[in-house]
Amino acid sequence: MIQIKKNISLAPLTSFKIGGPAKYFLEAKNADEVIEGLKWAKKNKIKYFVLGGGSNILISDEGFNGLVIKVQPAKIFFKNLSGVISAGTSLAQLVGASIKDGLTGLEWAAGIPGTLGGAIYGNTGAMGHSISESVEKIKVLRNSALINLKNKDIKFAYRKSIFQKNKDVILEIELKLQKGDREEIKKLIKENLLKRSLSQPHYPSAGCVFKNLSPRLTSLGLAKLLEKYPELENFKKSGVVSAGWLIEKCGLKGKQIGQAQISEKHANFIVNLGNAKAKDVIALINLVKKTVKNKFDFDLKEEIQYVDFK
Ligand SMILES: Cc1cc2nc3c(=O)[nH]c(=O)nc-3n(C[C@H](O)[C@H](O)[C@H](O)COP(=O)(O)OP(=O)(O)OC[C@H]3O[C@@H](n4cnc5c(N)ncnc54)[C@H](O)[C@@H]3O)c2cc1C
Repeated sequence: MIQIKKNISLAPLTSFKIGGPAKYFLEAKNADEVIEGLKWAKKNKIKYFVLGGGSNILISDEGFNGLVIKVQPAKIFFKNLSGVISAGTSLAQLVGASIKDGLTGLEWAAGIPGTLGGAIYGNTGAMGHSISESVEKIKVLRNSALINLKNKDIKFAYRKSIFQKNKDVILEIELKLQKGDREEIKKLIKENLLKRSLSQPHYPSAGCVFKNLSPRLTSLGLAKLLEKYPELENFKKSGVVSAGWLIEKCGLKGKQIGQAQISEKHANFIVNLGNAKAKDVIALINLVKKTVKNKFDFDLKEEIQYVDFK
């Protein structure tokens, strides 16, 4: 029998520490409880939302007028380099288990908050890697039926998966890693954590707000831009224009609306200085998009997901 709670504050369950309450809230311990929760929502004609670690979302100040389902973590076991992991497992737990078992392939994920389910949804990545590289199969709940998907079915791309288009609930992920040297793994993780600590702000945030772009996406023409900003040559080579670089060049670092601020440390982060509201973050996002469009003719797209904005 599932236990549905009422009027649960969501802000503490997000890394931004922003957002109103969930009208209904379920902590699902297993697939059966997720199924029961979905049935309950259907019967009561209530919409639902699956919450992971809340580290890539902005929840509206009014909250979520429906059922929030949080998939709980389960114990991690790797056997013969493969492990079947619950979607609710945090990336931190997973990186810890890979160190313990001397498995390589997830060092890039050290220091990224959130769960494996959320990472699959947005194909989370860093340092030139992404979670898609380690995924073998995924078990999801689709219209109350359990189905297994192979890596190629998920249509992973840069910060993309099919889950952004459908309403599947991700339940379990089969990951495959490689045998590595435990000391080398630890060393790389330590280096990656240091890089993060030096480059990222320490205030509450949802990580990078905008996706990076392809240099081809400006109608001004890259040649004109390169004349003005020779640094863009680096981006041409790497194939990616950093959204943070564009925002910084617009002079927006440090810009504040209410208690939300474009980080002084990393221009692609919006930070909560204390009591920021979702509406302040939205106002900053709109300002950034408009300014970048006017200066560079690039259309920035959000990496973060919005929850329940009308
Ligand atoms: C300081 C900081 C640094 C970060 N660095 C990075 C980085 O380097 N690279 C990067 O890519 N991201 C980064 N992020 C963003 C974020 O941590 C990752 O994208 C993370 O993997 C999101 O997981 P989550 O569990 O928090 O997802 P949530 O924020 O809870 O949810 C994100 C989306 O996934 C969906 N979702 C979650 N679980 C499920 C499920 N079981 N079934 C179906 N849908 C689900 C939600 O409905 C929502 O739409 C960073 C964030 C912070 C705060």
